[in-house]
Amino acid sequence: MDRRSLIETTATLGLGALAGCALPGNAAKTARTPFEVPGTFVPIVGSDMAFPVRRIYCIGRNYAAHAREMGSDPTREPPFFFQKPTDAIQNVAPGGIADHPYPTLTKNYHYEVELVAALHKGGLNISPANALECVYGYSLGLDMTRRDLQRAMGDEKKPWEIGKSFDRSAPIGPIHPVALVGHMVQGSIWLKVNGQTKQSANLNQMIWNVAEQISKLSAAFELMAGDIIYSGTPENVGPVLRGDRIECHIDTLPNLSLQIV
Ligand code: MN
Repeated sequence: MDRRSLIETTATLGLGALAGCALPGNAAKTARTPFEVPGTFVPIVGSDMAFPVRRIYCIGRNYAAHAREMGSDPTREPPFFFQKPTDAIQNVAPGGIADHPYPTLTKNYHYEVELVAALHKGGLNISPANALECVYGYSLGLDMTRRDLQRAMGDEKKPWEIGKSFDRSAPIGPIHPVALVGHMVQGSIWLKVNGQTKQSANLNQMIWNVAEQISKLSAAFELMAGDIIYSGTPENVGPVLRGDRIECHIDTLPNLSLQIV
């Protein structure tokens, strides 16, 4: 490369970098890219549109009996949060049975059935009284967990991301808009493995309800449209093996089924 073309190349790169910097935050709708990265979307019931997922937040130990089984005190300590990567979503269509691969590294793979709230707006320091205005709709999801890895990391006081935030760790059904199902503050939530009931509780047994979850989360993170919140699991989490079939339910939503393969 001669000196002149080197300068031209540099100038082009410089302009490109400047153009990148001039974009408002990371809000660019489109940009020329050297390759494509797929977005994450969840189907919306009653619509040909899909819900674009920005972040996945999860609430830990949000049912008293589950907090006890995990070895903690279920008094109203502030809720705690973790995230899964957006592309941990596995879309599951109701009425069928989706294959769910048993993940690597674990010998103790657990189900956690959870109500999921999907937001169409957000903010910082949202009051509980205003929080439900942020909810676009609800779904039924599973916070799949490599329990042995989560526990081992916790025991060593290391982040337990490897136990929670791996590929396909967030199976989810389609999103039901609030306009169709209202706000979900009570109703049965259960999970069966091979037809046998393992988890069974009521949404009204959450320590922190969805409005309070949004309020508390928004004190720590600026919530935005596209964020979804897994609201915690009831007691009696447990393991599955290859060949097991999971069926889960929340009143007014269609059941979801997974086959562990
Ligand atoms: Mn969970």
